Parts: sequence; structure tokens; C-alpha cells
Amino acid sequence: MEVVYPQYGGLSRDRRQASVMIVLNLVAIANGSSTTTSTSMTIDVRLRRRDSWRVTEVIIPKDRQRAAKVPDEAKQLLRSRQLSIPREARLDLASGRIDPKLMELMVELSQRWHLGVHVLRTGHPSNVFGTERTSNHTKGRAVDLWALDRIPVIAHDRAPWRDVMEAAAGLGADEIGGPVDIGGPGPPYFTNDVHQDHLHVAFEN
Ligand SMILES: [Zn+2]
Repeated sequence: MEVVYPQYGGLSRDRRQASVMIVLNLVAIANGSSTTTSTSMTIDVRLRRRDSWRVTEVIIPKDRQRAAKVPDEAKQLLRSRQLSIPREARLDLASGRIDPKLMELMVELSQRWHLGVHVLRTGHPSNVFGTERTSNHTKGRAVDLWALDRIPVIAHDRAPWRDVMEAAAGLGADEIGGPVDIGGPGPPYFTNDVHQDHLHVAFEN
């Protein structure tokens, strides 16, 4: 088992509950055989802190059917070498449950940067963590990017997160979270502790 990346999924206001979304690569070796099979999975690990952090729940996504017809933008994204997309997010694209506007934006951004996608819909907490508000991920209208040009966003001084945030706004995204609120109060930009390690790019309206 290999952890590709553990990304923040949410942190409660009192900082005592958290979600960490982890993309895993799993390799299985069949008993007595040299054959290996590999797959990848995105899990949502919930933690609670008392004296130290403890895992309270692990949410494993269920498999879903592919759409009868995979949307063209999804095909383009799935074929592209300009993106790395984990399995759960690939299935989201193939299932036709991602908003075409978001897919078009990803196509556009990927012309300029290599995008390390962490999560689209499946594997993300369904509400904005610690609130009753439905996340735009759940509506298929948000993507989290953990690496840009193969540099993790957490490497704040090297990753081109500022340029990507500005480009996303230029392409119409109106909910853009990252390490810094580059626009000051009000939309489209925001920041908080959770968005120090990834960009959240979404269409709220
Ligand atoms: Zn997000």
C-alpha cells in the first residue's frame, strides 16, 4: 500500500475534528503466484483530537457504474497527459456526474499547467466539513488540486498556485481556495488552514 498524498478534507472550528482524504495505491500479490494486481482508492479518514489525534471513522467509496456515454470533455481529460487523476476521480468523470463547466475549466488549465487532481466528487466529505452546507464537490462542481506542474501546493514558494488561482477566476470559477486569499474579502478567492495544501476550484453559481 502506498500513500500518494494525504490532503486536508476539513477541520472543525475548534480544531478537534478533521477529515483527511488519502489517495492510496494498492498492490495485491496473489497467494503462491507472481501475478500482481494494482488499483487505487480515495478514502476519507475522520480524526478526533483529545490528548492526541485518533481515527474515528474511515469512509471507503462504493463503486459506481460508468455512464452509457462518457461526455467528450471527460474523455479529453481522461486521455490527457497533462493531468494525473486518481481512480475515484476518473470514475467520477466517466460516470458523467461532473459539471461540464468544471471539466472545460480543467481542460483549459491543463493547457498551461500539469494538474495533480486529488478529488472531484467521490471521496470528499459531502458537506463542507463541520457545517450543514452541501459541498460543491457533492454537486460535481469542484475540484481539489494538490500539485501543479508536479510540485505539491504545500511547497508554497515553488508551486505556481497564485497563477493558477488567477487563471481559474479568469475562466469563471467563483469559489477558489488556496494558501492565500489573493483578492481580499469577498469572492472569488478564500483561504483557511485547510487550503494550505491544495487549491479548491469550484463553481458556486
Ligand atoms: Zn475542495
